[in-house]
Amino acid sequence: MQPNKKGVAIMFSYLDHLECTQCGKTFPHTQLSKISTCCGKVLFARYDLPRMRREVDRNSWQERVTTMWRFSELMPVDDPDNVITLGEGATPLLRAPNLEKKLGLSNLYIKEESLNPTGSFKARGISAAVSKAFELGATGFTMPSAGNAAGAAAAYGARGNLPVKVFMPKDAPAANKKESVMAGSEVNLVEGLISDAGRIAVAVAEEQNLFDLSTLKEPYRAEGKKTMGLEIAMQLDWKMPDAIIYPTGGGTGIIGMYKGFQELLELGWIEGKPPKFIAVQASGCQPIVKAFQEGKHSAEPWPNAATIADGLRVPGPFADYLILRAIRETGGTALAVEDAEMVDAMYEMASTEGIIACPEGAATLVGLKHLLVQGFLQPDETIVLLNTGSGYKYLDLIKESAQG
Ligand SMILES: *Cc1c(COP(=O)(O)O)cnc(C)c1O
Ligand SMILES: [Zn+2]
Repeated sequence: MQPNKKGVAIMFSYLDHLECTQCGKTFPHTQLSKISTCCGKVLFARYDLPRMRREVDRNSWQERVTTMWRFSELMPVDDPDNVITLGEGATPLLRAPNLEKKLGLSNLYIKEESLNPTGSFKARGISAAVSKAFELGATGFTMPSAGNAAGAAAAYGARGNLPVKVFMPKDAPAANKKESVMAGSEVNLVEGLISDAGRIAVAVAEEQNLFDLSTLKEPYRAEGKKTMGLEIAMQLDWKMPDAIIYPTGGGTGIIGMYKGFQELLELGWIEGKPPKFIAVQASGCQPIVKAFQEGKHSAEPWPNAATIADGLRVPGPFADYLILRAIRETGGTALAVEDAEMVDAMYEMASTEGIIACPEGAATLVGLKHLLVQGFLQPDETIVLLNTGSGYKYLDLIKESAQG
């Protein structure tokens, strides 16, 4: 298959309509959309899977350009020329033999998302959302972000010649502010948290006719994150792992990957049941853990949210009900870990496997250890940890010498 000038394989999307995740009402996908007008909830992209099943061979994905756009049939963009890409996706699923030995496991993997453009898996969601919005006529964006999403939006905006205004908590990591400035975005620092940044971003978007990219308040960032699940299945030779441990903030990844596995199942391209989805949060911001433990279907906003893991500092995730649904339907669980444990695990991931993980990614290793002790996970299960971003944006957490 020949790539076009942007390196995207030429094919087309089987996108068919949008669907309200609350009531199932359907909407056309041919105009810019945010949340469902019926329930005010998340919209999912739905594809013509029966037709795709007849017409597409899963092996054709393997032969294409090694970016997430190889999955174009299950991606929302209709015209490959509208794809705004920096080569996101196609990250390695690394076997972790040293950690396996240390923890007595037989099948441990780390999905190494820090290799994405701008150093985090946010690149996947932003590439998908910005590309689709551009296709549908958007001319600029707002992005509220606790950190990495801002840098990614700024970079993809620059790549697509589309102006971006980012809104970040004042205490967001310096690296995220600087990468946004470098990429030419307007950087607005907000007193408060991501939720406060979100309110301002939405207001500015409305006033200035920009398209707001808030987590799961438009349908397509989840489609980009979904490709992590498609890749994991492909990398495990069309099998699903037994468990995926995911550092959960707004939940795009957990929701996206679960959706991806369901689509592959419906296509008949994989068999078995989806992995147990395990949400790891920070003890200082654990709305999903609390809701899960209390058997609730929605989460209450977490007061005074505080953690060093900026991607997990999301006190009131908009898609709480979808995160909880993914965890419960797959027999997963949710647990919180301490900031200090995350930092220790940053050292451990680097010294055992050479992976310079962000604190969010390191949190999955902490979660894994707790769940092994509790007996929730078994040593012979195939377990995937998501290292969602690079530790290089967090070097201030690390000592300069062993002596300290
Ligand atoms: C944003 C982010 C997360 C959380 O991702 P969600 O999809 O919002 O749950 C985790 N890790 C890193 C490094 C992030 O930037
Ligand atoms: Zn609805």
